[in-house]
Amino acid sequence: MPVFARAGLAFERGEGCWLTTTEGERYLDFGSGVAVNALGHAHPHLVEALKSQAEKLWHVSNLYQIPEGERLAQRLVDATFADVVFFCNSGAEALEASIKLARKHFHAKGEPERYRLITFEGAFHGRTLATIAAGGQAKYLEGFGPKVEGFDQVAFADLAAVEAAIGPETAGVLVEPLQGEGGVREVPPATLRMLREICDREGLLLIFDEVQCGMGRTGALFAHEHAGVAPDVMAVAKGIGGGFPLGACLATLEAADGMTAGVHGSTFGGNPLAMAVGNAVLDVMLEPGFLDHVKRMGLVMRQRLAEIVDSHPTVVAEVRGEGLLMGLRCVVPNGEVAAALRDQRLLTVGAGDNVVRLLPPLIVTEAEIGDAMARIDRGLSVVEAGMAKAAPVGAAQ
Ligand SMILES: *Cc1c(COP(=O)(O)O)cnc(C)c1O
Repeated sequence: MPVFARAGLAFERGEGCWLTTTEGERYLDFGSGVAVNALGHAHPHLVEALKSQAEKLWHVSNLYQIPEGERLAQRLVDATFADVVFFCNSGAEALEASIKLARKHFHAKGEPERYRLITFEGAFHGRTLATIAAGGQAKYLEGFGPKVEGFDQVAFADLAAVEAAIGPETAGVLVEPLQGEGGVREVPPATLRMLREICDREGLLLIFDEVQCGMGRTGALFAHEHAGVAPDVMAVAKGIGGGFPLGACLATLEAADGMTAGVHGSTFGGNPLAMAVGNAVLDVMLEPGFLDHVKRMGLVMRQRLAEIVDSHPTVVAEVRGEGLLMGLRCVVPNGEVAAALRDQRLLTVGAGDNVVRLLPPLIVTEAEIGDAMARIDRGLSVVEAGMAKAAPVGAAQ
């Protein structure tokens, strides 16, 4: 189905931060398949994990124990606020599990009327019927029938609006600590801490969507760690599988108290192939120094991008983001900028609010960032030259 507006590029192989097309042209990948290839392409440790698992066992279903899944769940629990984990195959499914968990929690407490979640404007939580309702974006809801009930959207990071939206039917607050699709917009750490306080005071669940900003992307294993707050529930996907479809819903025991045998499930979720790769991703990310590298590369990139904004003010206006989830807010249409960068063989991803996202693999080197910045500098110069040509003669005063 033609639901994707694809670029006319096909890639045959990848290595680290580099992709090679079927025509043999090399591209520098600063999109990582939308924050998925956290360890780049064909990472030897991931390749080995998938190959060796493929020779042993692919699938058994959740009718049986899956030891590698229990090991991955335990490692995630040890590394986070969570006590329990549910595995699925995508971000939207991780959000569906989180939403169902919140409703079931209050049902189990004898408060079934509490089923509504407060979300932020600009949110993106996936493309299922419930997650498009949670995201609240008209362009994704239109034509798909009545919007799923139970989501109240307020202005981005507006605490007064959150307080005003809380009612007897509210179950919790669902937010991305750092919005990706919405335009690389960070909820200020103080606001995240206030959300925690509000939820504690009102007896609500705080749910973080870290599908994009989690798994090392911002230089912490999870973005909320920067603010020193913990949620009750968290949805994770994208980078957790390094390119293998994998999602997870993490929760405290108390929040998950309604999730008993039979109330939720997945045929493929927690499949041995996914679990082997998930464990291999964690092997690398939990190595001492890995997150420090992400932080350091993030600072290098932010500095270089700030210089680029200074030297191309008619094309780009602002640097946003944290770690290696960065955005350039554009003055000209962001699609034009992304196309100009693609002409320089640099891959980026568009976002809301006229932003071009830069999401290199977390293993990116300083030399590769320098290479990418040179390509951006050249690409933006081409856009400027085009603008000068299009401007009417004598327009300059
Ligand atoms: C990508 C994304 C999702 C949806 O994930 P899918 O794997 O596409 O279903 C949900 N939330 C956020 C923040 C995302 O970036």
